[in-house]
Amino acid sequence: MQNIMSHGMSAASSLSDKSRSNKSLGLAILGASGSIGKSTLDVVRAFPDRFHVVALSAHQRLEDVEALAHEFRPAFLVATCPDSATARAWNLPEQVELLVGPDEVQRVVCDQRVDIVVAAIVGRAGLEGTWAAVDAGKRVALANKETLVMAGQSVMQRAAETGALLLPIDSEHSAIFQAMGAGGDLDQVRNIILTASGGPFLRLTPAQLEDVTVSAALRHPTWNMGPKITIDSATMMNKALEVIEARWLFGITADRIQVVVHPQSLVHSMVEFVDGAVLAQLSPPDMRLPIQFALTYPERSAGPASRMDWTSPWSLQFEPPDLDRFPSLKLGFQVARDGGTAGAVLNAANEAAVERFLAGELRFLDISRACSDVLAHHTYEKTPTLTSILSLDRWAREEMKLWKRCS
Ligand code: MG
Repeated sequence: MQNIMSHGMSAASSLSDKSRSNKSLGLAILGASGSIGKSTLDVVRAFPDRFHVVALSAHQRLEDVEALAHEFRPAFLVATCPDSATARAWNLPEQVELLVGPDEVQRVVCDQRVDIVVAAIVGRAGLEGTWAAVDAGKRVALANKETLVMAGQSVMQRAAETGALLLPIDSEHSAIFQAMGAGGDLDQVRNIILTASGGPFLRLTPAQLEDVTVSAALRHPTWNMGPKITIDSATMMNKALEVIEARWLFGITADRIQVVVHPQSLVHSMVEFVDGAVLAQLSPPDMRLPIQFALTYPERSAGPASRMDWTSPWSLQFEPPDLDRFPSLKLGFQVARDGGTAGAVLNAANEAAVERFLAGELRFLDISRACSDVLAHHTYEKTPTLTSILSLDRWAREEMKLWKRCS
């Protein structure tokens, strides 16, 4: 099984040679107007001599990305939604080439001026750009967990062939990577332990969970994120997707992955070694730290991320998750065990279910019920091609549109 531990170091050393030669590294930031894109640009602002922007892509909030083009002067600006892009009267610096349409993302990530691709497009839409970056052997700072959830086996295999280095931006996976010693020996690891904030509904009863409203689900206690991932945090589907992501990224079987609820979101995850030692990574909830680590790895540098204040009292709580109240998490472990096409189906079913929940068509607990039903009805393949993954993705979305609760 390929994983970031087995081939990460050689790929990392070629880039760090480049950093040591004081050459500024070129970034392609996919999903530049989202929260991860904005935090990435904060890190770039903090290291003007080490990084420069070659390409920015955005689907919406085009006025924001236009302002970013003036600030960072990339070679390419990709507007992935043709309708919004053509409706806009653009005012761009002369050197910035405007490219329109989702396929242009795959072209710009392959540009030879791009050293690192920050894959921060949300959801299934991020797959092709991330795949193209892996195919081109780039360093990929991966925020788009769906790529690994949908096609983890193929992506890790392809990365091993091309020498692409996938480094996690997801805070939990970055924490695990750091706690493992960023290149350590997986044989010495007994378990990895993903922490979960538990979301806003940790203490609700099953009856209260039935009546959760859209606006309540959109308020996350510790992280400020986009609507899709905020709903996923409330259902704990986000943690389910992270279990699947970890299974492929670290090449570790589902029985060696645990989830623990930790409401403070200060311990971002932990690794338990074979001798019983547990190493954790702590920091305030600030995505600029895992982003920066993925960009500067294997080095650490003083950067803009907020720091722990040890002059104040902190308390850290941990408790096992209640899989009966949060059945999405149970689905995540099942899918991590099943592998094959299960991840693509769960991801698509969940994206479509979250849309229906946000539109007021599904109730909160219907999200996991509907995902479980769609998953149970799909035609499973153990080693799917990318084509069959994409066709099952479309199938699962159609199934979800038709889903009705039986009762
Ligand atoms: Mg996360």
